[in-house]
Amino acid sequence: MEVPISVSLRDFYTGNDHDFTVEKQAICSTCEGSGSADGKTDTCGACGGRGMRVQKHMLAPGIFQQVQSTCDQCGGKGKTFKTPCKVCHGSRVIREAETHTLSVEKGMPKGVRVSYENEADESPDYVAGDLVVVVEQIEAKIGTDEATRTDGMFFRRRGRDLFWREILSLREAWLGDWTRNLTHLDGHVVKLGRGRGQVIQPNQVEIVKGEGMPVWRGEQRSEDDDEDFGNLHVEYVVILPDQMESGMEKEFHTLWEKWRKKNGVDLEKDSGRPAPKSRGHDEL
Ligand SMILES: [Zn+2]
Ligand SMILES: [Zn+2]
Repeated sequence: MEVPISVSLRDFYTGNDHDFTVEKQAICSTCEGSGSADGKTDTCGACGGRGMRVQKHMLAPGIFQQVQSTCDQCGGKGKTFKTPCKVCHGSRVIREAETHTLSVEKGMPKGVRVSYENEADESPDYVAGDLVVVVEQIEAKIGTDEATRTDGMFFRRRGRDLFWREILSLREAWLGDWTRNLTHLDGHVVKLGRGRGQVIQPNQVEIVKGEGMPVWRGEQRSEDDDEDFGNLHVEYVVILPDQMESGMEKEFHTLWEKWRKKNGVDLEKDSGRPAPKSRGHDEL
């Protein structure tokens, strides 16, 4: 018996308990699985308690076929009773809702299977199997109160690593001197930033060590283990202004013209490509 349960990435990060309810077949407690109102049962006379009957059919003269079928007198139970139990109507089992607690452990991988021994459908005729919970991840929502207000919905997870995109303006990417407070899944703050003059290239990826997912050791975990974390990959997306005040544009233009002929960045050289013979040359 398998049940999918979806939890948020935040729960995978911090660990959390989830109560869930499954409806399963349970042995009727009123008649203790006998199906009889007074608890008394007799061995079925039609099948001798085997629950199955073998019938012989003649297909053609002298040719017989044996057909084994469920006993229609006792319904395969092998027992009969005078008055059926009022609760299960003689079926010996009932549908029942049962609540369990799922402990999502820090760093569990999505799709992990958690087993509850003998908690699957019950029957008087066999030992109940295991209930298996498949833990999936749901899309996160931004929390409404301050304690849960994290940027959780914008993190992406791959194994033990987390991924984040941070937007920078042209000025920030180019001239530096900026900071960001990134609220992590448990609410702690990861500080990003650059000093003046520190350039970030578009789509540059910064790896922040230890700010990924907690590493889940599963069964091998021991209490003395130090918590270990994956890394956070921050990709910087640089947005260029698509409009500029005309005065500002003029000033920039004058500035570029002034510095154009001086020592700019050699794009050809910096790109590592061989320089073509005749091509316009630009800087910055
Ligand atoms: Zn029978
Ligand atoms: Zn019953």
